[in-house]
Amino acid sequence: METKQDFTTLVEDSRTFDVECVRSALEFVNRATAGDAEPAQAFAWAPAICIERVSRAGMFDWAMSDRVKEPKPELSLRIARQFLLTLSYVLPPDQKLIDVAEIRRWLQRPENVTRYSKLPWQLDRCDFLPLEPGKRKPAISVPMMSDVGSCLTYALALLFESDWGLAERVRACRYRGRSGDEPVHYFLDYRTDDAGQLKRGTPLAFCSSEHANRYRQQEWRRRHAAKNRSLGKQVGRRVRR
Ligand SMILES: [Zn+2]
Repeated sequence: METKQDFTTLVEDSRTFDVECVRSALEFVNRATAGDAEPAQAFAWAPAICIERVSRAGMFDWAMSDRVKEPKPELSLRIARQFLLTLSYVLPPDQKLIDVAEIRRWLQRPENVTRYSKLPWQLDRCDFLPLEPGKRKPAISVPMMSDVGSCLTYALALLFESDWGLAERVRACRYRGRSGDEPVHYFLDYRTDDAGQLKRGTPLAFCSSEHANRYRQQEWRRRHAAKNRSLGKQVGRRVRR
C-alpha cells in the first residue's frame, strides 16, 4: 500500500477493501503453512484503513487497534488449517481445492491439539452508510481487526455472503515448490476490466507468472528425464543382446 491513491481507494471503496481482506486471509494461510514467523503481517495494511473509516464516519469514541496481533507461533498453523476447513464449505462444491480429510486428520492428532485454543472466531464489525453520500454504494464495513481471528472471520463472512463473487475466485496454485510436493498455496484470481466488471475466461492456474515459469521448467525437466530414461532402457536392451 505504498501510494496515497491506494490508501484512499481502500478507505472509500468497499470492494477494493473486501478483496484485499480475502487476499490477505489466503496470504496468512500460505505464510503459516510455510512456517513464517509472522503470518499476521499479511494484514498489516488493514488497521490504518479501519481507523480512517471510523474517523470519517465520526465515530471518535471507537478505539481501534493500529496493529494486528500475531498469534502464538504454535497456534498459527492450527488457525490456518481451521480457516481452510471452514473455507471448504464456502467454495463451489465442484472445486476440490482443499483436502478436507487430510486437514481433519491433522487437527485431531494429539500433538496438534493446543491446550488452550481460544480461537476468536467472532465477527465484530460495524457497517456505516456510504462515506460519499449520494453515490449508490454499499455500506462501508469496519471490522475490528485487532487479531488474526477477527481478520479471518471477516474474510469468511465476505466469502459466505458471496459479496463480489469472491468464493468463486479462490484458487490453488499448481506450482508446489522446488520438490513439486510442498504444501498447496492459495490465491485470489480476482481481475476486473476498466469498467470494474469481473473478467471472464479461463481461471488462472498460478498465483504469479514467476510460479507459472518455474512450473513449466519443472515440467520440461520431468519430460526430458523421462525421455532419457526410456532412451537409456532401449540402449541397455541393445547392449545386453
Ligand atoms: Zn504460486
